[in-house]
Amino acid sequence: MHISLTCLGTGDGVPIAGRNHSAYLYTFGDTTLLVDCGEPISSSYKASGLDYNLIDAIFISHLHSDHFSGFFMLIQSFWLEHRQKPLTVYLPTDAIAPIRQMLNTAFLFAEMLPFSMTFVPLKPLGSIAVGPVKVTPCPTSHLERTRKSLQAKYPGEYIAYSFLFEAVHLRLVHSADIGAPEDLDLLLSQQTDFLLCEMAHATPETILGYLAGKPISRILLTHVARHEWERLPELQQTAYRILAGKNYSFARDGDKITISAS
Ligand SMILES: [Zn+2]
Repeated sequence: MHISLTCLGTGDGVPIAGRNHSAYLYTFGDTTLLVDCGEPISSSYKASGLDYNLIDAIFISHLHSDHFSGFFMLIQSFWLEHRQKPLTVYLPTDAIAPIRQMLNTAFLFAEMLPFSMTFVPLKPLGSIAVGPVKVTPCPTSHLERTRKSLQAKYPGEYIAYSFLFEAVHLRLVHSADIGAPEDLDLLLSQQTDFLLCEMAHATPETILGYLAGKPISRILLTHVARHEWERLPELQQTAYRILAGKNYSFARDGDKITISAS
């Protein structure tokens, strides 16, 4: 089975020219999953030339706008590009009712869409099968500080997920947004063929130092904070020093990476 990752958006949550917000397309043979749909996903997807029936499921890691803001325009583009294939959207439970309401508010009524769309709530460690891929969402501490300061006033689940993808004996980990590198302890407790790791929510030294000791065959560093991205050569030197001997690279928009067994 051919497994690949196309990076449609590798930026962090801060606006920057030349990097889109979070969107990553994983292909496992004939099965394709989109993880997050930060804007401008409708534009980057069109530019990719990929078929509008390609995506089987969308996984939304959490509801920060840089991971989710392109969703409505993506659905509108699926409508106007005549997508036919049913679509399943896996996302935090709290988001489902307001998204349904917002779709109707934006005149994206179910009756208008030439494809069926199903929303499925993610459950912590509740594995999901999509074709040959087993997807396990693992909660992170990314929203804990926000929860502590604002949950009393704005009730909700305040959840963010990393994802484990397992297919044909390969383990792929997608960090999405973390609160601290230790959020990945469970996922990286065994040999991992590929890790996509965000870099914006701890210092580069903290994240790279953590990854240096983990059994990972291939590391893709992404979501680099804008102020770090603007001095990328220094960050690359830091990574070279800390990850010596590891197989790693920094993601850029448009990158397509083939993922193979260790
Ligand atoms: Zn976030």
